[in-house]
Amino acid sequence: MKPSLPYDSSTLSIWHRTTRSFPHLHANHFADVPASAKYLIIGSGISGVLTTWKLVESGIEGDEILIIEAREAVSGASGRNAGHIRPDAFRGFSGYASYHGPEQARKILENEKRVMEDIQDFVKTHNIDCDFNLTTTFEVCFSDKFAKEAADAFEAYKRAGGDVDPVRFYEGEEAKARTKVPGALCAYEWTAASNHPGKLVQWILNDAIKKGVKLWTHCPVTKVVKHQSSEDQFRWDIHTPRGVVAAETVIHCTNAYAAYLIPELSQFITANRAQSHAFIPRYSLSGEYRLKSTMALRYDVGSFFSVNPLLNGTIIFGGTGIRSLSENPEAPSGFMNTFDDTSYSNLIAGTATREFNSLSREAAEVPLRHGEGLDHAWTGIIGMTPDSVPLVGPLEALEGQWICAAFNGHGKFPCTFVLVIAGLIFIFFTGMAGIFRCAPGLVKLILGQTWQDTGLPECFQISKERIDRFKEPIKSSL
Ligand SMILES: Cc1cc2nc3c(=O)[nH]c(=O)nc-3n(C[C@H](O)[C@H](O)[C@H](O)COP(=O)(O)OP(=O)(O)OC[C@H]3O[C@@H](n4cnc5c(N)ncnc54)[C@H](O)[C@@H]3O)c2cc1C
Repeated sequence: MKPSLPYDSSTLSIWHRTTRSFPHLHANHFADVPASAKYLIIGSGISGVLTTWKLVESGIEGDEILIIEAREAVSGASGRNAGHIRPDAFRGFSGYASYHGPEQARKILENEKRVMEDIQDFVKTHNIDCDFNLTTTFEVCFSDKFAKEAADAFEAYKRAGGDVDPVRFYEGEEAKARTKVPGALCAYEWTAASNHPGKLVQWILNDAIKKGVKLWTHCPVTKVVKHQSSEDQFRWDIHTPRGVVAAETVIHCTNAYAAYLIPELSQFITANRAQSHAFIPRYSLSGEYRLKSTMALRYDVGSFFSVNPLLNGTIIFGGTGIRSLSENPEAPSGFMNTFDDTSYSNLIAGTATREFNSLSREAAEVPLRHGEGLDHAWTGIIGMTPDSVPLVGPLEALEGQWICAAFNGHGKFPCTFVLVIAGLIFIFFTGMAGIFRCAPGLVKLILGQTWQDTGLPECFQISKERIDRFKEPIKSSL
């Protein structure tokens, strides 16, 4: 797959549509870039913005930092996800263990738990208006096969010393009653949250700008090369259509697009498009009958839908009709490994609508009122790695360059969200949330602390050895 810059004219998510007045959306759109910056951050998603904020919090002067963004501010996955903050409580254990061993798998899940606490603290401490809703989430099992798979993962995590006490388990009628899902065989419940990701990232960006950080939008970085003059401290020249910035430290927060500037990663990071939907619920899922917890509706190991009821009653619905899609000869082709987030699939939207309707109690023949039902659909690009964990740390051969990218898992790891690509199924974990620990960890490394100080699982660390392990092109199948 050829690396790419972000596409122009990307779809607007529900979060973009409701924050069009963000004052820094098009910051410095027509200005030439500054000649130099001590710290240059590429990408204005949660990785870039939180890394910036943490640098400032650690004592770096705001005006020493420049963020460069290819499109409008927060236009990548951070502004177009499903708004779910759903740390994996046990489900990914077996998958992670098969790649990274049980100890790392346990650390990955423990890290997920701390993510939840860190986001909650951050939002509360700064009183951020981002529709943060601390609630619970259900893992709803629809098949015996899936129920067994979940039970095995639960037991394996417990045997490895994982803390499963916060996870509650329900069966039969109790599962149906608690989840309000008629077909539930059993369900697991633990603490999770939902939020308006656009508002959260914009708040952090705005706060950084107030502290002197500079932002250049609509300005793709096209290459990073050795600085031409050896007489000053700058090590890198960052090329853009509006000039060249000389920088001492370059931090790649470019998620799925990272390989465009770091070709060594072109076989390691795969871009995949995911689709999300906003539904306006009918009578049976609104008012006092609204859903209060988020959910993953699990039909099979690779077959599920994510449900995120927002505080205003809108329900964000991810995932797809996996089986029907894979059996459908007209499943969208060319949907695999694309950087194209300029449109969405009607087929996937239709499947999501059918599944969403099955949650409502209204009889099928009762027509929707105008304004009810599917309100909006959008897509976004996910950066996936073959070992399902992100890339964090220094780029060894490029002194002064760092990365914090590729926030997903895929393949067999049955976690929170699902992506169907030409009939194949990928599942990934709560990417945005995880960045709340990775970005602060990266800042510690940049400022001279050790990996141990970051508290992150060792398997997140970027290394040549890790990249070389996956030299063959990534196969897009389970
Ligand atoms: C549809 C969808 C649903 C999701 N649902 C959830 C969910 O419910 N919960 C969850 O936790 N996670 C979810 N995720 C994943 C989550 O959104 C991402 O893991 C996270 O936002 C990644 O943040 P980031 O800052 O690393 O990347 P991004 O937000 O993608 O930011 C990268 C930025 O870099 C910019 N950029 C790239 N290349 C260049 C360049 N050369 N020059 C300048 N700028 C550049 C891009 O334009 C972009 O703005 C979802 C993702 C999608 C697409």
